[in-house]
Amino acid sequence: MIYKEYGQTGKKVSLLGFGGMRFKNIDDHDECVNLMVTAAKGGINYFDTAPGYFGIESEIVFGKAFTQMRKLGLPYFSATKTFKSTESEVRSDIEAQLKRLNIESIDFYHIWCVNSLENWENRKKDGIIQTFQKLKEEGLIKHICISSHLTKNDIKELLMEDVFEGVLFGYSAINFNARQEAFDAIKEKKLGAVVMNPLSGGVIPAHPELFGFIQRDGESVTTSALSFLWDHPEITNTLVGFETLEQLNEVLDAMKNYKPRTKEELEKAKVMAGASFEGICTFCGYCVADNGSGNMCHEGVPIPLFMDAYNQKLLSKESKDPIGDRLKWHWNIDKSLAAKCTSCRLCEKACTQHIDIVKRLKEIT
Ligand code: SF4
Ligand code: SF4
Repeated sequence: MIYKEYGQTGKKVSLLGFGGMRFKNIDDHDECVNLMVTAAKGGINYFDTAPGYFGIESEIVFGKAFTQMRKLGLPYFSATKTFKSTESEVRSDIEAQLKRLNIESIDFYHIWCVNSLENWENRKKDGIIQTFQKLKEEGLIKHICISSHLTKNDIKELLMEDVFEGVLFGYSAINFNARQEAFDAIKEKKLGAVVMNPLSGGVIPAHPELFGFIQRDGESVTTSALSFLWDHPEITNTLVGFETLEQLNEVLDAMKNYKPRTKEELEKAKVMAGASFEGICTFCGYCVADNGSGNMCHEGVPIPLFMDAYNQKLLSKESKDPIGDRLKWHWNIDKSLAAKCTSCRLCEKACTQHIDIVKRLKEIT
């Protein structure tokens, strides 16, 4: 296992992390705990959950697993999150979380799901920064972190605030275009960087034909997609949600046999990724680049977010309503925004992947 310094916290975390959102059968606590303890035995020491993964069940399972790890002398760091903003709400959340997790202090506590700069401003008005600072002074949390799906300059602006010690964000071979600006801030502010969804919700293993550009001889596409992320010097930890022991062992083996790409090989893979997905939105942002207001076109249509959701329809086999689920749970935007499109087609002229954006928007509304 490779261990990396988490920002400036002095903590060394495993490059491979355990995400608590994909247990196969959450009702079987013993099986879930066994999976986590096996991960800890394999060298994973970063365990991330949230109040909302299987309701509160994931946190309960984590609490049981942490108890077991303490008995066995296995080191671990706890990471979880809160949606709440006001002091009383956050305190009520964390009290319950500490009980469920069966620990006295949460190592990495995240302000969860900051999905727009406006949302961030509102949460600041509610006193979220002061509340987190107080929790830290009281020893209830060790480090103040943020979890966000913001992209490009928005995520950079957020991370440049002198508040956070680390960030959790989605990053994979399919959407890395959207988050390069985050890495600028991560480097400048010396933040820990945990990436979630490294296999793009199962899309990458399900479509090896699309990801040949990262696949290396003798490796599965899953292994290559993960090693592509491990090659990024700025990434501290990649969270994988395991369902079974077989999956866990496959990824632990991949880590054991990991051979880094050279800097040149990594750059080549990034360039090829930008060009390799005909008809798939790569989140390059060219369609909204002229407008200068984040992800919106001049009519206020957040095109890359809609096209990312459409990607799920094309690629994901996991959901009955892939577009709706992605818009609601990942981006927190309403489908009706697509109706703002006036069919001017300026975005289509700029689209690097030649996507028929207007047609897809009409299908979404
Ligand atoms: S075609 Fe629609 S989405 Fe594209 S720029 Fe024009 S109004 Fe915006
Ligand atoms: S719709 Fe096209 S131009 Fe816009 S972000 Fe996606 S790939 Fe890039």
